[in-house]
Amino acid sequence: MSDIKLAPAPPGVSGAGFFATTLDKAVGLARANSLWPLPFATSCCGIEFMATMGSTYDLARFGAERPSFSPRQSDMLLVMGTIAKKMGPVLKQVYIQMAEPRWVIAVGACASSGGIFDTYSVLQGIDEVIPVDVYVPGCPPRPEAILDGVMRLQDIVRTESVRRRESDEYKALLESYGIH
Ligand code: SF4
Repeated sequence: MSDIKLAPAPPGVSGAGFFATTLDKAVGLARANSLWPLPFATSCCGIEFMATMGSTYDLARFGAERPSFSPRQSDMLLVMGTIAKKMGPVLKQVYIQMAEPRWVIAVGACASSGGIFDTYSVLQGIDEVIPVDVYVPGCPPRPEAILDGVMRLQDIVRTESVRRRESDEYKALLESYGIH
C-alpha cells in the first residue's frame, strides 16, 4: 500500500479531500487489525511474549496471531531481550529486510534502554540502531503490558496516513539511521 500515489490537491484547495481521508481510515483500519508480528527475542522478555500468544492472553483477539520468522512477511517487529552491541547490525538488517509499512515495539527495559545491563557490550536501547514506535516498560513486562503496547501501536497504525511513508519527514528519520 505504500506505493499508492494520491493526486495533489487542485490549485486553491488545501488539505486532504474526502476520498483521501476515507481511504486513510479504511487502510488504517485494515492494517491495524491484521499486524503480522516478527518476534526478535534474545532473552527473558521473549518468554512473556510466548504467554501473550497463549490462550489466556490470546494475541489473536487483536488480529496478530500469525507470527512470522521471515522479515519479508511481517510488519510488526517486537524486540524482546538484551541486545548486545554485536547483535545491533543483525537487528538493523532484519529491519531493513522488512517491507514498508513496518513498525517496531521495544518490549521491556533491556530493548528500551539496556535495562540493568549498563555495560560496554550492550545497546542502551534499540533506538540506537533502528526507529522505535512504541516502548513497553517492565523487567519483564507482563503479557497485559505487551498487549497494551500492541494496542498503542494499533492506534498509531489506525491514524497514520497512507502517505506518511512517502513523506520527507519519514525519509529523514530513516536517513538519520543510515537506512536508505
Ligand atoms: Fe530479562 Fe528484564 Fe531484560 Fe526483559 S527487561 S530481557 S526480563 S532482564
